[in-house]
Amino acid sequence: MAGIAAAALGVLAWSFMEYVIHRWLGHDARMRPNPFAAEHVRHHGEGNYFAPIWTKALAAAAGLGLVGGPAIWLAGTTEGLSFAAAFTGSYLGYELLHWRKHIHPGYGAFGRFTRRHHFYHHYTDPKFNHGVTLAFWDRVFRTLRPPGVIRVPERLAMPWLIDPETGDVRAEHAEDYELIPAEG
Ligand SMILES: [Zn+2]
Ligand SMILES: [Zn+2]
Repeated sequence: MAGIAAAALGVLAWSFMEYVIHRWLGHDARMRPNPFAAEHVRHHGEGNYFAPIWTKALAAAAGLGLVGGPAIWLAGTTEGLSFAAAFTGSYLGYELLHWRKHIHPGYGAFGRFTRRHHFYHHYTDPKFNHGVTLAFWDRVFRTLRPPGVIRVPERLAMPWLIDPETGDVRAEHAEDYELIPAEG
């Protein structure tokens, strides 16, 4: 039972770290330069760029070591390992979900909402909607904004947004997104 509670705490701890890393390491000028910001600026600038997979594997291994050691020392082997495994697993889940937002339109109202939440951050105002997996911490820190209609520069558009026939936003996304045409 304590193992399950420790795992739940690990998931919560990662989701908090996800917000903190993205908001402050990624977007606060006072924290630069740092390796996360370098990759994150490129992610914003190129639209659908992701850091190479080995950097994520390295981050997961480092996270497991850095979190696992102190957690086992503080809470014992079972609870400490549960916490660290859930923390690292949630980190990898975040990476997967973030990548999927960029390459797949998602399913249902929730899939649609989480994408609009994230692409508001990309294209409307990067000072808001820092939570990639959840909007929860944006609510806590008062950085939550309703997505409205998101204007996406054509050269940065997610592949799923564009209808190859017309070159414009697909009909099913036309209420949520507009394309800013490339110049020239
Ligand atoms: Zn993104
Ligand atoms: Zn960002």
